[in-house]
Amino acid sequence: MRKERPNSFVIAEAGKCIGCKACELACFAVHNRDNGVAAAVGTVTMPVIPRLYVIRTDSFTMPVQCRHCENAPCAGVCPVQAIVQEEGAITIDEDRCIGCKACAMACPFGAISLYKAYSSGQEHKQPHLREQLNGRLERKTRVIAYKCDLCHDIASDGNTASGEIAGAGAVNNSGSLTEGGGGPVPACASVCPEQALTLVSPSFGASRSRKAAGLRL
Ligand code: SF4
Ligand code: SF4
Repeated sequence: MRKERPNSFVIAEAGKCIGCKACELACFAVHNRDNGVAAAVGTVTMPVIPRLYVIRTDSFTMPVQCRHCENAPCAGVCPVQAIVQEEGAITIDEDRCIGCKACAMACPFGAISLYKAYSSGQEHKQPHLREQLNGRLERKTRVIAYKCDLCHDIASDGNTASGEIAGAGAVNNSGSLTEGGGGPVPACASVCPEQALTLVSPSFGASRSRKAAGLRL
């Protein structure tokens, strides 16, 4: 019987991260080609919305992003089943999302943020809900949940994020972590100048060294 493998995810090493935010920009660029981003310099007409967030403390900087939980709390609370598991990644169907924020409250890592939705570089307006703007009632912009999808949508277009943004991949291969399942390296890991981000795919099988350690007990 074929063993399912746990979801892949990206980990960050705080000791290597220099806080340059190249990962945030690469993430924004590859996820917004439909919005005209990266077509040419100076054409960005929407706010930069990344799906990972570089946090800064007095002593370190480090990107934080979705861990692609096996029993994803965000999916469990979504009232419209907008969050699903697809080919080893937890993804959000942006068309289904109603912006209720339940997933953002349920995520233990703070990996989900709510922002305006954009189509073809324009704010995506709601058909029914209106708001008071400049003294007039205008159609309200949709707000939806955004989070890391391991560049899943880009891969399913037949492209690889790494191929479009930069060459080198960053796949770890130590202990029980095995190479990234043959999938593309997410854009963030691909562009990081310090190789601080790594795509890993955990294996259910215990590593040889852990088995040996267990037998010695
Ligand atoms: S968004 Fe949060 S809760 Fe959902 S899979 Fe990612 S880390 Fe887990
Ligand atoms: S904000 Fe969207 S994805 Fe999150 S729980 Fe609500 S409907 Fe589901």
